[in-house]
Amino acid sequence: MTRRRWIAEHWDEATATLVGTQAEHMIRVLRAQRGIEADVVAGGRVFHAEVAAIENGEVRFNLLAELEADPALPVTLAMAVYKFDHMEWAIEKATELGVAAIAPMIAWRTEKHLAQAAEKRAERWRRIAKEASQQARRADIPVIRNPVPLATLVRTASSAARIVLAEQERSTTLRHAMDAILASTGDEMPSLEIAIGPEGGWAPAEEAMFDANGWHAVSLGPRILRAETAAISALAVVASYLE
Ligand code: SAM
Repeated sequence: MTRRRWIAEHWDEATATLVGTQAEHMIRVLRAQRGIEADVVAGGRVFHAEVAAIENGEVRFNLLAELEADPALPVTLAMAVYKFDHMEWAIEKATELGVAAIAPMIAWRTEKHLAQAAEKRAERWRRIAKEASQQARRADIPVIRNPVPLATLVRTASSAARIVLAEQERSTTLRHAMDAILASTGDEMPSLEIAIGPEGGWAPAEEAMFDANGWHAVSLGPRILRAETAAISALAVVASYLE
């Protein structure tokens, strides 16, 4: 039987503890008792564990044995901030698909009120990523960076292969780009950064900035996709190469 997986808030060498909503769910809904077994993620490592104590609204596990953990997909998704409900759906699905990090950025066509609210919203994005990681039985939680202006992210040096999804690109597909990246990295697993534009797309000055800073523009085909569809399609293509 597949054991449930929990992501511990606190841990040491031998124990791990759930607090807050996870503990409440375990205690009230699942009626957890001492001796119940589960998989527990503690500091990015996964353990077979059993409940040792339930007290003061917390659940403490004894860690019995370490299990093999699947690594995250070595991809950072650089997402222009756009409609929060759509963006949150994308964060949840990208987490399920294994993304290592999400870097929100304020683009020229990010709506002003969303740009202003983005920093506060990042906490909610982190909660969504944590819940999705648990649901997807990941061993880790993707890092959700604080939102930054697009120019900061695009210009910051990186050793990753950098891809910008651009619907006006016609000749280079993501598959072409992945073939070229893998040919150049040989046996080494490449890290990728993939940028996705807001609802209104990239401004011409942003396209020029990506180009000047070594990002490769790629197409996902002839149709215009919503940003969240583009994010998920791109991750699925990349995962098919890297996993
Ligand atoms: N400028 C567009 C328009 O209104 O016609 C829409 C932009 S689209 C909703 C949002 C983002 O998704 C784009 O900036 C791009 O990053 C990505 N995207 C959508 N369709 C794409 C495609 N066919 N190829 C590559 N990227 C795409």
